[in-house]
Amino acid sequence: MQEKRMGRITKVSGNMVAVEVDAFIVQNEVAYIVHGNERLKAEVIRVRGRQAETQVFESTTSLKVGDEVEFTGDLLSVELGPGLLGQIFDGLQNPLPALAERQGFFLKRGAYIEALSDKQQWDFTPLAKAGDNVRAGDRLGFVPEKIFKHYIMVPFAFQQMCEVVELAPAGRYTISHTIARLKDGDGKVHDVSMRQLWPVKMPIRAYTEKLKPSKPLVTKMRLIDSLFPVAFGGTYCIPGPFGAGKTVLQQLTSRHAEVDIVVIAACGERAGEVVETLKTFPELIDPRTGKPLIDRTIIICNTSSMPVAARESSVYTAVTLAEYYRQMGLNILLLADSTSRWAQAMREMSGRLEEIPGEEAFPAYLESRIASFYERAGVVRLNDGSLGSVTIGGAVSPAGGNFEEPVTQATLKVVGAFHGLSRERSDARRYPAIDPLISWSKYGSFIDGKQMKRGHTALRKSHDVAQMMKVIGEEGTSLADYIDYLKGEFFDFVYLQQNAFDKVDEATSADRQKHIFGFIYSHVLEAEFDLEEKEKALRFFQELRQLFKGWNSAEWKTKEFGSIEQEIVVLLEAKKKKDLSHE
Ligand code: ADP
Ligand code: MG
Repeated sequence: MQEKRMGRITKVSGNMVAVEVDAFIVQNEVAYIVHGNERLKAEVIRVRGRQAETQVFESTTSLKVGDEVEFTGDLLSVELGPGLLGQIFDGLQNPLPALAERQGFFLKRGAYIEALSDKQQWDFTPLAKAGDNVRAGDRLGFVPEKIFKHYIMVPFAFQQMCEVVELAPAGRYTISHTIARLKDGDGKVHDVSMRQLWPVKMPIRAYTEKLKPSKPLVTKMRLIDSLFPVAFGGTYCIPGPFGAGKTVLQQLTSRHAEVDIVVIAACGERAGEVVETLKTFPELIDPRTGKPLIDRTIIICNTSSMPVAARESSVYTAVTLAEYYRQMGLNILLLADSTSRWAQAMREMSGRLEEIPGEEAFPAYLESRIASFYERAGVVRLNDGSLGSVTIGGAVSPAGGNFEEPVTQATLKVVGAFHGLSRERSDARRYPAIDPLISWSKYGSFIDGKQMKRGHTALRKSHDVAQMMKVIGEEGTSLADYIDYLKGEFFDFVYLQQNAFDKVDEATSADRQKHIFGFIYSHVLEAEFDLEEKEKALRFFQELRQLFKGWNSAEWKTKEFGSIEQEIVVLLEAKKKKDLSHE
């Protein structure tokens, strides 16, 4: 930490405050605007000679030219250590419930609270011993945190090999207690506690290598897992018009995805939405552990009523916390809703800095900022050989649902999967409203490739026939085409659509998906039926759909599940074309 340097405000423009200062200022260092008794946090975003421009994370009302500004020399950082899980923070890592308790829900500006309690004691078990040589990221010990082993690691900022001089014995300590003393190559001894700081805009890289994402991450959404899969360490985006179901989809994913920890960055759609998340989330039960879901969740949230700059920091805070837990060999899913709000914050700040605007007035660096955010995802091999991953899923909310706009386009260039929501599907209440005709994924699924391909062609064909029928009418359509249309619609209704209000149907395991998809593939999509006319065909598929609905609500591998399957088989066999050539 450098010594404090002072400057004075020369201009206030929204959340951009320009400061004149007679000292060396570092890009991205934290400054505090001193206004009476208030100290407002800000970050240096541009330095030009004696002029520093800062973005203030608070309302700048009543700040004036001449007010003092104190520069800290510290980069905008988060606090890492046990106690993060289950917390709800704002973009600057202030614990929101604690803030609210102290001052009611109308937060006073300039109020900051430590992210982690320094009173709570943690049960520490050492793993290293005196004399060991260790490097950044190596495990010194662990404490239990909720259902995980929270590893206490050599701070990531350590660049050299160090020798463990002393390590605390098993016992109960606070996060500020010195649990290890490490000697670096120059003979300097450092005190290490369970808490460390890390600058949010810098990826944590205390691992040996980054691997290509290959293992499917099961979200339990059939449409995603079976047709447009996500991989551990991969990236995906969910663009969609307002009200199409992005937030609901992310909430479902946060509950059901087979990952260890979910970090949610809720950055400012509607204010009410965030309050709702704050109220309902702590009451949800984890369907996998039976424990509170919040125990393996961290929520970072900013509403649209908070200053724009705070939205930007919330995205970085969230990804840094995700990287921290990845260092412990865990799989983390980061869900950001919505990255468009973050991009708007960038646009607003860029305008105030009077930078040359790019497309739709977004700054020219929009693309590289979005790319470097998604690049922080990945599967990594840790120092001890084990793997950890951060997967990032970002919602994008383009105005009017127009995917041609810069934020959607920049995101599509870097992500590995695209789940595009369409107004047409959400209006028809076909949920999840991911449009299978425009979405794609570069990752592999646990579904057999040939079957998956058949699923895609069935949907495409059905859509084409539907379009044709709009023009020439049902009468002009051949029976064969009409049956193809019905097959695609059937597949959509019973497999792609999922009822979020049915406790069985809302989440489907990989095994069940494989079974059902395989069943639909061979018994329906690939089957030829003896249906003499359209009316009969329609009735047959309606009956089939009804039975499937019941099947989707039956618990996997129960007697009920088996008997409905039998019933469906009987119905299908009765209408299947008999292949006479083999008899
Ligand atoms: P967005 O975030 O895209 O603006 P939301 O996720 O808030 O949209 O969804 C808007 C509304 O659509 C929800 O309040 C709900 O009524 C409905 N909805 C969205 N997804 C589903 C779903 N999977 N099942 C049932 N209703 C849904
Ligand atoms: Mg939303």
